Amino acid sequence: TLVLGIETSCDETAVAIIRNGTEIVTNIVSSQIESHKRFGGVVPEIASRHHVEQVTYVLDEALEQAGMTMDDIDCVAVTEGPGLVGALLIGVNAAKALAFAHNKPLVGVHHIAGHIYANRLVKEMRFPLLSLVVSGGHTELVLMKDHGSFEVIGETRDDAAGEAYDKVARTLGLPYPGGPHIDRLAHVGEATLDLPRAWLEEGSYDFSFSGLKSAVINTLHNAKQKGMTIHPQDLAASFQASVVDVLVTKTVKAVKEYGVEQVLLAGGVAANKGLRAALEEAFEGMEAELVIPPLSLCTDNAAMIAAAGTVLFQQGKRGSMDMNAHPGLDIENF
Ligand code: ATP
Ligand code: MG
Ligand code: FE
Repeated sequence: TLVLGIETSCDETAVAIIRNGTEIVTNIVSSQIESHKRFGGVVPEIASRHHVEQVTYVLDEALEQAGMTMDDIDCVAVTEGPGLVGALLIGVNAAKALAFAHNKPLVGVHHIAGHIYANRLVKEMRFPLLSLVVSGGHTELVLMKDHGSFEVIGETRDDAAGEAYDKVARTLGLPYPGGPHIDRLAHVGEATLDLPRAWLEEGSYDFSFSGLKSAVINTLHNAKQKGMTIHPQDLAASFQASVVDVLVTKTVKAVKEYGVEQVLLAGGVAANKGLRAALEEAFEGMEAELVIPPLSLCTDNAAMIAAAGTVLFQQGKRGSMDMNAHPGLDIENF
């Protein structure tokens, strides 16, 4: 089965072709980061315009690199949501046009289901499994009892992990997206500052990062007022230590409670070196198998959308020519 995936939910225009849901034939990502950098974040109108300009080129390039034509493709999969509505619409319309013109089935994919399925390009999934999703807009623990079934057992009550990284980075004067810069600084700094960890109520798998973010801002502000110097690398290391501690502790607890076979790391923050290392250490002696995708499959890409799309296609799910963009699509019922 060859599935062509299209992803345009945010600031990456991406097209990929996947064989049998597990093997990458081609995976092309055109990033707009440079265009958004000077605004310190993604500007929705600029994102939509870039997608319009890029999507046909990226599509042609994917087919050319694969040495294929649309005749070879069994199904077109596209991110239906969540994301920026104008950005999503470009991908959805491109996918509908392609499916219609070449008479191919169409499937709509949830972006976060895609992030989770990036792991299937590394290792076959074994159920039940738990996925720790940490991205720019989401932080959640998702329990999967089978393909295509998603149960959110915990989620952030305020900022997503990636959002917290980007805001803290901005406070430190680092460019967008700030996650990788904080990660790099944290690596050379020392976690000497005592920052809060939001454990929330006993037994809760929810997260909260806005208090931590405020604590970082206050620490910087107070130091400035007192004329004290705080080394940015130590602040980055302390912030990262707090984020990683909460993420890893709650994941380990959920893995034990639900007795899962596998733990899958997913989303852009999965590229974080501190988080990857801490999870590897935590799961070393545990029965559940930890799967971590390569960096290129953590941030937004279409390979993950085609991988999730393959499963939905094989389950008989079909999108229609009425398909719309759903900026607030719910992973439990899509
Ligand atoms: P969502 O997937 O929730 O819709 P998104 O698609 O915008 O949001 P992703 O592309 O999955 O988010 O991830 C981008 C986020 O990942 C950004 O917030 C970025 O700072 C963060 N990120 C990327 N690399 C790292 C890293 N090494 N350490 C921490 N954060 C990182
Ligand atoms: Mg992105
Ligand atoms: Fe994403």
